[in-house]
Amino acid sequence: MLAHGDTKSSVVVERGLQIDLRVVTPGQYGAALMYFTGSKDHNVRMRGIALKRKLLLNEYGLFRVGEEKDGAPIASRTEEEVFAALGMDWIPPELREDRGEIDAAMAHALPDLVEMSDVRGDLHAHTSWTDGRDSVAEMAERARAKGYEYVALTDHSIGLGMTHGLDPARIAARTKEIDAVNRKMAPFRVFIGSETDIRSNGKLDYDDATLGLFEVVTASVHSSFAQPREAQTKRIIGAMEHPRVNAISHPTGCLLEKRDAYDVDLEAVIAAAVRTKTRLEVNGGPERLDLSDVAVRRAMEVGAMLVCNSDAHAIEELDQMEYAVATARRGWATKDRVQNTMPLAALIEHLKGKG
Ligand SMILES: [Zn+2]
Ligand SMILES: [Zn+2]
Repeated sequence: MLAHGDTKSSVVVERGLQIDLRVVTPGQYGAALMYFTGSKDHNVRMRGIALKRKLLLNEYGLFRVGEEKDGAPIASRTEEEVFAALGMDWIPPELREDRGEIDAAMAHALPDLVEMSDVRGDLHAHTSWTDGRDSVAEMAERARAKGYEYVALTDHSIGLGMTHGLDPARIAARTKEIDAVNRKMAPFRVFIGSETDIRSNGKLDYDDATLGLFEVVTASVHSSFAQPREAQTKRIIGAMEHPRVNAISHPTGCLLEKRDAYDVDLEAVIAAAVRTKTRLEVNGGPERLDLSDVAVRRAMEVGAMLVCNSDAHAIEELDQMEYAVATARRGWATKDRVQNTMPLAALIEHLKGKG
């Protein structure tokens, strides 16, 4: 407990996160919520816009200048009221960073952000065939219980020794098991997937014939993180050129607070995603959140497609989808740009080529 009073308390929870608790009257709720959900830059800009209209915006409401002490606010009860009084559409909290959202709100041109309820399935998850905890059937059942229409089980490829990557015999055995689960669970669909390593020399970990055994291939870098920028960029773009590679997973390799992104020309990777029609993953693993919000925004600007995935290694981790969607939203992603918002039938067609 850092501080506590009648209307204001601050605590630090076990993992180090500080939480500030404020109590306001119902009439002040909207203004308070706005004040505490915007970044500093966003709030400064909002107050500036209010001042140009001879209004004062603070955590208690929007007031005529001079009336903030004892006058009634013009707006304060809901966020929508306050934004409307400033001539703006309501800005989703994820966008409150002063990165263009205020001008867009004034122009009534904010994006219609992707939502969790738009997600029809997950295209990156692991089972006990490699380094996951749970079985094919358990993962499929949990995915269906989440309301999904499909899940791709993308166990690791052979080169990733520590994860017990799949060799051709085990690929065949796993496929047989997936087929059996599909027969039981139809119309729910389990896709035969692979998270295929991009080797240090840029080659994929399986030959083309083996890659052809999978319906969904996501390619990833899991080794040789220290390659020079040019080689690393070439390595990843080379994988994107492959017609069987649907997506690049965790495209920058960063682990939050543990490992920096590898040195890669992300601008070139995003451009290659557009050119080769390869999706860039927004990975919902809380230690990854990769692509970042800023990179997602860039992908949106230049027309790249995304896929939001959990990278679950156990049934409860399928819920990490929420963090992928949240990160995509912070990057202004819309539903039409996220591959796994497609209904099953459309996705099956889509996966046949890189359409
Ligand atoms: Zn991975
Ligand atoms: Zn994975």
